[in-house]
Amino acid sequence: MSVSYIEINRSALRHNLRVIRSHLPAHVDCTAVVKADAYGHGASEAMRIALEEGYNSAAVARVEEGVALRKDGFTCPVFTLGLPLPEEAETAVKYDLIVPVDDTVELEPFEEAAEGQGKILEVWLPIDTGMNRIGTHPEDVEGFLEKLKKYPHIHIHGTFTHMAKADIHDKTTARKQLEKFEEALSHMPQRLEKGFIISAANSAGVLDMPESWYNLARPGIILYGPHPSDEMDNMWDLEYPMRLISHITHVQVLRKGEAIGYGGTYVAEEDMRTATIPIGYADGFHRALSNKGSVLVNGKRHRIIGRICMDQMMIAAGDDVQVGDEVVLLGRQGDEVIYPEEIAAIVNTIPHEVMCGLKRVPRIYV
Ligand code: PLP
Repeated sequence: MSVSYIEINRSALRHNLRVIRSHLPAHVDCTAVVKADAYGHGASEAMRIALEEGYNSAAVARVEEGVALRKDGFTCPVFTLGLPLPEEAETAVKYDLIVPVDDTVELEPFEEAAEGQGKILEVWLPIDTGMNRIGTHPEDVEGFLEKLKKYPHIHIHGTFTHMAKADIHDKTTARKQLEKFEEALSHMPQRLEKGFIISAANSAGVLDMPESWYNLARPGIILYGPHPSDEMDNMWDLEYPMRLISHITHVQVLRKGEAIGYGGTYVAEEDMRTATIPIGYADGFHRALSNKGSVLVNGKRHRIIGRICMDQMMIAAGDDVQVGDEVVLLGRQGDEVIYPEEIAAIVNTIPHEVMCGLKRVPRIYV
């Protein structure tokens, strides 16, 4: 067992999957967004639980993430969300991934790969309704569909759009995006075919905008505990499966007037006990938490003092902390909890980045 590790609680993840599923009507399928290693929770394990809970497809960002799922034995539909490059055509076809193509994608390599492998490549069409990241604009859909007819080994499996501002109170922009999506859909006769996938809802859409559900929801962040923002109208009873755990490796007395760590940014006002933890910014524990964040030892908060180093960090130890004590840097210990939102607020980011940024430390499942 490593001295530092990420612990993932399977039942908490299962709980979230169930809560989300229970809010969606039967005709709305739900894909589990397990990109970025399931926001740091481990894509394969998250996906195993999602399948057990009645989710029947996975969504990842990149072709290689889809390949990793296939190599781990997953046979369910796997959607990718980011545009593939022509170089990835053979792999996308080989591993039966459902890839997005818009009117900027060079289609020949995909057609040739599919024909060469004796397969039909399933694609879904991203529609740019205002995110301005990828996708065909609604007014260009008709022309693009006409062009796609020339590629008999490419089959249109569905379509999706992505909302940029569904996580704020004011849903005006999100609604406008859905209107544009409707306009795009009106140019797609395929929308009437049985099994044609239509998808717009990220977590914020799942929570607050039933009009965005269509027949496939794509929740990501709410699988892992946090709500997309504190402006959501609906807050569900979600659990946080992730804990970041380490152990105290060193305890000492810092004398009054002495500084600790790089740059000597913290100076003891009086003699004090300090403790050292073998986690640092190389593990994804943000350096911006230096002298600002806290950790839990023996169920109590202890301040981070000095700069967080690459592999270690120091805390004010009080009287109780001993070498070998468990430290919780994220998650619950006793009655205290450090939520990813708390860390995100200090380092000026979102909980997504806090969780998916953790690396190097091994992951265990309980
Ligand atoms: N769909 C797409 C295209 C995405 O890029 C993302 C995440 O960024 C999601 C769905 C899931 O979003 P969220 O984590 O907000 O639910």
